[in-house]
Amino acid sequence: MENVIIIGTGCAGWTAAIYTARANLNPLVISGTLPGGQLGTTTEVENFPGFPEGVMGPDLMNRMQQQAEKFGARIEYTQINSVTKNDDGTFTLKSDSVEFQAKTVIIATGASPRHLGLPNEKDLIGKGLTSCATCDGAFYRDVPVAVIGGGDSAAEEATFLTRFASKVYLIHRRDELRASRIMADRALGNEKIVPVWNTVVSEYLTNEKGEMRAVKTQNLETGEEGELELECVFVAIGHVPNTQFLESTGIDLDENGYIVQQGSLAGTNIEGLFAAGDVADHVYRQAITAAGNGCQAALEAERYLAEHES
Ligand code: NAP
Repeated sequence: MENVIIIGTGCAGWTAAIYTARANLNPLVISGTLPGGQLGTTTEVENFPGFPEGVMGPDLMNRMQQQAEKFGARIEYTQINSVTKNDDGTFTLKSDSVEFQAKTVIIATGASPRHLGLPNEKDLIGKGLTSCATCDGAFYRDVPVAVIGGGDSAAEEATFLTRFASKVYLIHRRDELRASRIMADRALGNEKIVPVWNTVVSEYLTNEKGEMRAVKTQNLETGEEGELELECVFVAIGHVPNTQFLESTGIDLDENGYIVQQGSLAGTNIEGLFAAGDVADHVYRQAITAAGNGCQAALEAERYLAEHES
């Protein structure tokens, strides 16, 4: 029986691991499908306190993992399919092949990139459609690409892609970016970035090999349709929380699938089950807020265990 199982290895998960490990709770951390969470696939993080020169996202996550492991956190590379509260108050977690038992569970599974929902979108993943410029940008040298979205992710990805691509269309459904001023200015000031305002992508067009060759666009103001030739589309239109595996748990989710925190800053409607980070936060969604919330979840789990120690 584990004292605490932490599901997720982003900022929230590793911070919860550091705190519970230092409290001698010997936490078990479950990696999930994307070890390192969203920062694991990002480039430079400029706003995490303590790094005046910035830090690469994957480096930051590796450091958090090392720090947690130094104090005794263990990691299991698998994915949890269900979490059930048992009659005796403990939890059973099931993966495809293994079952775990724990006195408390911290859910820190974060959120995953949202897609447009166009018919051939899934088939195009890896064939000219991605949500990770850091992972795939270098494959598209000296060819035109597009980024869809208007937030910080879109601005950041578009700027990063100018290192490789000949041209980066920044396709946004409105006529101004939602991104922070500094990131928007950086993107719009780059001569390789071509903003395509008030426009949505209505179709992905493929070549004979089934790879992306162009997108069909529609201007929302004029209704005018167009086509942009390109080799890759980077979709950066936000995220969906990773809570699908909690369907049978009985945990309260909001209408968008985010965990509803209650009772305390990392509590849920189920005693002993805590949630931290982007899986429960659609407002701030920052590395530092996720880390802070991971700390709160750890302290609450510690307190819960102390209160229920018989
Ligand atoms: P976001 O801020 O939610 O922006 C999503 C963008 O996609 C918005 O511009 C939205 O348009 C557009 N969009 C949403 N659904 C769409 C659809 N179906 N079709 C077309 N466009 C659609 O998401 P994000 O950019 O991923 O950022 C998430 C959070 O992470 C934010 O808090 C951000 O500040 C943070 N972040 C920070 C950094 C950094 O500081 N280095 C980097 C990346 C992200 P509208 O504008 O019209 O709503």
